[in-house]
Amino acid sequence: MAKQLGFYIESAMCSGCNACVVACKDKNGLDDGRSFRRVHEVHGGGFAPSGQGYINNVFAYTMSISCNHCDDPICVKNCPTTAMAKRAEDGVVFVDRTKCIGCGYCAWSCPYGAPQLDKAAGQMSKCDFCIDLQAKGDDPVCVATCPLNAIKYGDITELRAKYGTLADAKGLPPSSMTKPNLVIKPHTGA
Ligand code: SF4
Repeated sequence: MAKQLGFYIESAMCSGCNACVVACKDKNGLDDGRSFRRVHEVHGGGFAPSGQGYINNVFAYTMSISCNHCDDPICVKNCPTTAMAKRAEDGVVFVDRTKCIGCGYCAWSCPYGAPQLDKAAGQMSKCDFCIDLQAKGDDPVCVATCPLNAIKYGDITELRAKYGTLADAKGLPPSSMTKPNLVIKPHTGA
């Protein structure tokens, strides 16, 4: 593979504004039931007894997640028609609509909830990394829209060299399941 695209998510910068979600829905013409990018709200902790009083370790944060164009994409493995495919040139996982029968196996398989049924078309749909915009030299719309620069993208080797290799955080499935091309800078509560 020439390169592998991935996302870098700086959770501590994410304000939960959902601008990325709305921009993605607008760009892809998504109906009410579909969001290729979603902002997860994670919270936990509490007031724990300590000595004569209590310690407050409450935390809450938001994290924007989409398809992670995984190295071990179980959606591709479980697609019965080979409609779900991974591009050789950049590792983008996409739906080939000439082959998709809308069976939903990819949606059932993906631990990130990335593939979603386009009810009108009777076919599956998902984040395609805005390959049409990238072909024109533009950034994916989620990256371009985030007002706090919480989402970046690029060759995953370069992202990992710059930001580290963490792809696990509270609220996400273990990265060992599909080997996502994702780097997370977690919030301190993650
Ligand atoms: Fe497939 Fe889900 Fe990984 Fe995307 S996040 S490549 S849909 S397994």
